This record gives sequence, structure tokens and C-alpha cells, in this order.
Amino acid sequence: MNLKYTSPRVFFPKSINEALEMNRSESDAVFWAGGTHLSRYSENTTVINLPKNVISLGMVEELAHASRSEHSLEIGSMMSLDRLAAIGRSTLPAGLHDSIIRIGSRPMRCRATIGGHLAVKDRIGDLKPLLQLLETTVETRSLKERHSRRKALSFTRKFPIALLEEKPGLEKGELICRISIPTESWDYGTFKKVIPTEDKERFFIFTALARVEKEVLTDLRMAFSDGYTGVLRDRDVEVGMAGRPLRLNTKELESLDDAVDIITAPWDKRDYEKETAKKLVRSFMNHINR
Ligand SMILES: Cc1cc2nc3c(=O)[nH]c(=O)nc-3n(C[C@H](O)[C@H](O)[C@H](O)COP(=O)(O)OP(=O)(O)OC[C@H]3O[C@@H](n4cnc5c(N)ncnc54)[C@H](O)[C@@H]3O)c2cc1C
Repeated sequence: MNLKYTSPRVFFPKSINEALEMNRSESDAVFWAGGTHLSRYSENTTVINLPKNVISLGMVEELAHASRSEHSLEIGSMMSLDRLAAIGRSTLPAGLHDSIIRIGSRPMRCRATIGGHLAVKDRIGDLKPLLQLLETTVETRSLKERHSRRKALSFTRKFPIALLEEKPGLEKGELICRISIPTESWDYGTFKKVIPTEDKERFFIFTALARVEKEVLTDLRMAFSDGYTGVLRDRDVEVGMAGRPLRLNTKELESLDDAVDIITAPWDKRDYEKETAKKLVRSFMNHINR
């Protein structure tokens, strides 16, 4: 059998600088972390259809480090989702462990990395809504050409994870190096992924965090995502809920229903999703109210 297939050129940088330089000199090269997304559409074909030039990040030690400070978890972008889950349900911020172990299968999570998960452009990964609520930031590095200089300048950017969804998002050649997840404590956290039919591509996520002090709701954050059209959230609604005494009365719960209707308005005509979103919010509030 004659297969028209050219092997890719694979580069193995040992440092972030080397990876960025390789990306600069091979303009069509792509970063390869766990490769689960890059090889996804080749699963059922005879040969894996790879990009022509691949920069494997597997030997860049700086990207594999993780540490914990007083206020945050500092995670190298090459940490696999499985290793991240292994940090443990009680150490990870509320809801994060549950959201990780719902992603794909365990063998897949052993390969997929947190950096790759955040860099994928054609879907909103399951972790992004909760990481946004937790006010996660990412640190990236890139090289920028300067006309007057022969050497490109190295740039570091640190920004809230929500900006990955906005334009320009991650720029070409920009490498996610570190993810910083605040570890402030939350009294309640939830992550729900609902798959209404057998079609696994149709699903939605509801995730929320809350703090309660002396029977007063002091902080509430909640987000929705259908995996593709953006993370839906309304800070004004969240701020409006803070400071309310528990239990919430019927009027307050009904106005929360209305708010969820407005937040999920982009899910036009998906009545099942919109109704279930309201029920999940009610169930979370009941849990807090107890
Ligand atoms: C069978 C299967 C089931 C899945 N199920 C789910 C699911 O239930 N929920 C969900 O949310 N996702 C799911 N996914 C998607 C999965 O989360 C991603 O494929 C995975 O997280 C990507 O990580 P990776 O390390 O393999 O990235 P790669 O495939 O190596 O890279 C993905 C993209 O990110 C770029 N990239 C990688 N690392 C970096 C970096 N550090 N900086 C900048 N760019 C980078 C690459 O160039 C590429 O464009 C599934 C995927 C598969 C294959």
C-alpha cells in the first residue's frame, strides 16, 4: 500500500527559550503538549495526520514544575490533567477535582495537559468556567521581532484566564507557561456537566462557588457553558446576591430564575438546557440554605 505520508519534523527543546526560538524559526510549527487534541481527528485513520513541524514540550522541565504558595497553586502548563487531579479533592479548590475527572477517560487525562486544555481554540474546555470563577491567571511567554535589533525580544504576559476567550486571545507563537489558581477557601462549590442526549457533543456545564458567614450569603459566583459559545456569567447578579440573609425567600429565588434566563439567553431555543440550568441553580441554593 502506498500511503502519501511525510513524517513530521519533531523538535525537542529543553527550555522555554529554545521552544520559543524554534517556533520563531519554523513559522508553521505547532507546540505539542499531550497531543490528544492534535491527534484527535486521526483516531480512526491508518496514519496519524500530524502537522509538518512539531515542537514537543515534553522535555522542557520548567513547564513541568508545580508548587503551592500561601494563596495559590502554581502549575506548569505541562502538568497532565491526571496529575492535577492527583493533588487531591481536599487540596484543590472546591469543585475542581470533580470537573477534572469528568474529562474523557483516565488514559486520555494521563496525556492531556492543563496548558493544552486551555490553549485549544475550537472548544471551551470543561475546566475554564470554574477556573474563571476562581480568578485563575495564566502566564505566557513569546518572542517579538524588533526591526532595529537582530535578536527578538522576550515578552511575558500575565492575564486572567477569561481573556483567552476574547480577541486576540492567545497569539501565534505565544506559549502558556504557568497557571496560577488562587486557593482562597469557599464554603460551597459545585460542578455539574449535563449531557441531555446520546450526542456527547451536546452538553452544558453549571458551576458555582459560595461563601456563607453567620447565615448570610457573602459571596456567590456562577457560570454556565455549552462548551462552544462562551462562558456565560453576570457579575452584577453575583454582586446583587452578596449580603442576602439565608434562607432566600420565594421572591428572591424567582428573581434568580429570571436572572439565569437572561444569562443563558444565548442558548436560544435550547429550552431543556435553560430549564435545567434554573433547576441546578435552585438545587445549589437549597444546598446552601440548609
Ligand atoms: C477522547 C477525548 C475526549 C475528550 N473529552 C473532553 C471532555 O470531556 N471535556 C473537555 O473539556 N475536553 C475534552 N477533550 C479535549 C481535551 O481536554 C484536550 O484534547 C486536551 O486537554 C488538550 O491537551 P493536550 O496537552 O493533549 O494538548 P495538545 O493536543 O498537545 O495541544 C492542543 C493545542 O494547544 C496548543 N498548545 C499545547 N500546549 C500549549 C502551551 N503550553 N502553550 C500554547 N499552546 C499550547 C497546541 O499547539 C494545540 O493547538 C477530549 C479529548 C479527547 C481526545
